[in-house]
Amino acid sequence: MNEHILLVNPWIYDFTAYDLWMKPLGLLYLASHLKNSGYKVTLLDCMDRHYPFMPLPDHPGPKRLKSVGCGSYYREKIPKPAQFLSIPRYWSRFGIPWDEVKKQLKEIEPPGWVFITGTMTYWYPGQVAFLNLVRQLWGKTQVIIGGWYPTLCSEHAHQWGFDRIIEGIDPLLVIKQLSSDFKELSTITGYKEFFSVKPAFDLYKKLDYTVVLTSIGCPFRCTYCASGRYFSEFWRRPWEQVLDEITYDYENYRIQDLAFYDDALLYRAEESFLPLLKALQKERLPLRFHLPNSIHARYVTREIAELMRECNFETLRISLEFSDVDSQKNTGNKVDNFIFEKAIQSFIQAGYAPEELEVYLLFGLPGLKAKDYELSIEYVTDLGLKPRLSLFSPLPGTPDFEKVIMHQIKDDPLFQNKIAYLYLSEQNELYEALQRKISKYTFFH
Ligand code: SF4
Repeated sequence: MNEHILLVNPWIYDFTAYDLWMKPLGLLYLASHLKNSGYKVTLLDCMDRHYPFMPLPDHPGPKRLKSVGCGSYYREKIPKPAQFLSIPRYWSRFGIPWDEVKKQLKEIEPPGWVFITGTMTYWYPGQVAFLNLVRQLWGKTQVIIGGWYPTLCSEHAHQWGFDRIIEGIDPLLVIKQLSSDFKELSTITGYKEFFSVKPAFDLYKKLDYTVVLTSIGCPFRCTYCASGRYFSEFWRRPWEQVLDEITYDYENYRIQDLAFYDDALLYRAEESFLPLLKALQKERLPLRFHLPNSIHARYVTREIAELMRECNFETLRISLEFSDVDSQKNTGNKVDNFIFEKAIQSFIQAGYAPEELEVYLLFGLPGLKAKDYELSIEYVTDLGLKPRLSLFSPLPGTPDFEKVIMHQIKDDPLFQNKIAYLYLSEQNELYEALQRKISKYTFFH
């Protein structure tokens, strides 16, 4: 058996996109399992910035992020969807140019199967565009769609004619559904087996960074977040296995930067993350670590902060979301101001400068007013820290999605786009005013 499977990370269709340590990790694990089962696997990551002949992006993006492996994507400006005509921003297809992808596909052996993954629900136009391209080129190829879009918007996803729709983000659920067509995968019945292989980063020609996941799930159920709700349990990988993967990536891909993808990296840290930090401290690999998903202030201790500093954890994001006690309690109680200040103190005592700590405040949640944002910004800046506003994206299956009164949002996942939501809910002017306020603060400090 040598059946050919094409694994695809499709283009992003959006107003904005940036490579902040973004790799399709689940797809890369799947690639390894399929390869080990005897399939011929080809990866086409439309978001690979180092793809041969990739044109340069129209702007380089922030210098600091560029120096740690991140970067802007090339984009093709395309007509906006009719729903967004009133939004004064360009709409683009980010990633490898369309014609180049088409050319590439014509050169490969026609696959029996194409698996198209996806991240945000509102990026489904990339998955659908790829499906249409496959249909044009290879009539008999079976096309499977996975990721958040078919998981959260399954009914919507059924209209396009995919041959199989995988619902679920939990890797075991994905494997179970795939096993009916790929019988060899049915031996993977636990997380232990799923994570027993290394993600197939070897399918890339060049890498600036790799990413790693040490756990599955999150113990919290924040009212605006879908992450924790779609895993049956919280599960941690043995730290020795994670260390082995990090060492392997360093030795084989010669990367300098590595990002952790966990939703709850510090939860039950003594079982895995703490021993991993101690081992990394001994190994002294010349790596910089980054945490694009913010960490839980609740579980930060002085010991963890010091080890993170020693091990070169450079990008630290801590979510506060709001400084108001009621908002904190009503949205899931993941943090309060006392816990937050204690965590910040631990990081400062460990040697981090305040400007190295990025504090996330959530903007756009239904019910929040200008005053609430101002108080949160003041609270963070009074502590000498820099706030960053993260935009609320209404996600189906979360309590806050139900509070959004724009009815179109339920009909088309495109409206779950955070920039679209910002404009269509008429909060863009307030957002811009707050951004100006934050940048003035940064200027004077
Ligand atoms: S703590 Fe973070 S990952 Fe967990 S549910 Fe809340 S927002 Fe989501």
